[in-house]
Amino acid sequence: MRVLIVGAGPAGLVLGSLLRASDIDCLIVERQSRAHVEQRARAGFLAANSVRILDANGLADGLHRHGQTHDACAFRSGAGQFSLTYSELGRREKHTMYPQQDLVRDLIASFLDRGGEILFDSPVDGVHDIDTDRPWISAVGEKLTGRFVAGCDGQYGVARDAIPGTTLRRDHGMSWLALLAEAPPSMATVTYAIHPNGFAGHMARTPSVTRYYLQQSPGVDLSTPEEIWHELDTRMRAETYGPLIRGRILETSTVEIHSYVTDPLQHGSLFLVGDAGSLISPAAAKGANLAIMAASVLARAMVAALRDGDDRLLAGYSAACLPLIWRAQEFSHWMVNLLNTPTGPDAEFMRALQWARLESLRTSRMHQDYFAENYTGVTE
Ligand code: FAD
Repeated sequence: MRVLIVGAGPAGLVLGSLLRASDIDCLIVERQSRAHVEQRARAGFLAANSVRILDANGLADGLHRHGQTHDACAFRSGAGQFSLTYSELGRREKHTMYPQQDLVRDLIASFLDRGGEILFDSPVDGVHDIDTDRPWISAVGEKLTGRFVAGCDGQYGVARDAIPGTTLRRDHGMSWLALLAEAPPSMATVTYAIHPNGFAGHMARTPSVTRYYLQQSPGVDLSTPEEIWHELDTRMRAETYGPLIRGRILETSTVEIHSYVTDPLQHGSLFLVGDAGSLISPAAAKGANLAIMAASVLARAMVAALRDGDDRLLAGYSAACLPLIWRAQEFSHWMVNLLNTPTGPDAEFMRALQWARLESLRTSRMHQDYFAENYTGVTE
């Protein structure tokens, strides 16, 4: 009996590859073309737990060959700069920087090598009969039936609509301009800048491409490359630390800083994995890591059910993932409040709290351990 997977992002592809490794028949149905998903730049920072999962399942060759290890980050503000070497704090773990589109390319190749099938250019328009053991999806005019459906179709997918659970939401009422620049990183580490104009972030992607984030603030125009670079230099305090290395801006997108969690993540024969079931702000680089963690939990459960007839892990899928998701949400919200310049009627009070939080992080070893454990976290 096959598993139908909606979506060929990290969640769907890790799940599919792990199922194929156990010889479970599965079909991935993806709305976009193969070229599109293999070029879609998003995440980059893989937590140690994600690398362990990919390693244990023979999916980590590319990231070991081309990924870069990161073990420190820096915070800049009007009070100066400090760095935290998180590989010496908390659980003493590191990140591996490997662009998401490269990971997706590797995962597609592995899934196909393992005998999996992907229908690209095939938007799914609904998931049906999930209260039965013959659920089906409709895509490009066809009815595709399986034993289980995994909704791995991200934040704009259709699978979540079929789950009768509750989706809890939090909108921070702010957005970031996310951009990729064809420029080498200007600093050795991820750098977070806290500035009255709004937050700015610098993250290496490859030796020639850097991701930047800018909190979008009222009255700050970011429409042209010149305005963007000027604002990045201002918030990154070029007057003290030197100007950023500029380059062509390859793409920009707006990321709304909001989160949701669907509870439960399953109903009948349908299971939500990754952004389909829980969205987290990029403030703590957790989304792709949560997707990989949940895909691995679900793969184990589906293999037990389909190969050994043991449904217990499957019944506990949502309960196994939700505490990890909420812990990541808690840290991501802490990061949102640490990094972003508050606006609104209580902005001055919130700004004072932001300074207190930053100062505590700079000076308290316990606070630094908390940061490191959660920053590199998401561990089953
Ligand atoms: P997706 O990657 O969104 O994949 C879902 C797939 O489903 C897509 O291919 C989509 O085309 C397909 N689909 C959607 N609807 C349908 C349909 N109806 N029918 C068929 N297919 C459908 N996370 C980190 O961990 N670290 C980071 O550093 C980080 N940085 C980020 C930076 C940016 C700018 C953004 C936007 C996100 C970032 N994230 C980061 C989050 C991370 O990219 C996501 O959490 C991750 O992609 C989730 O994987 P997924 O497989 O659940 O969903």
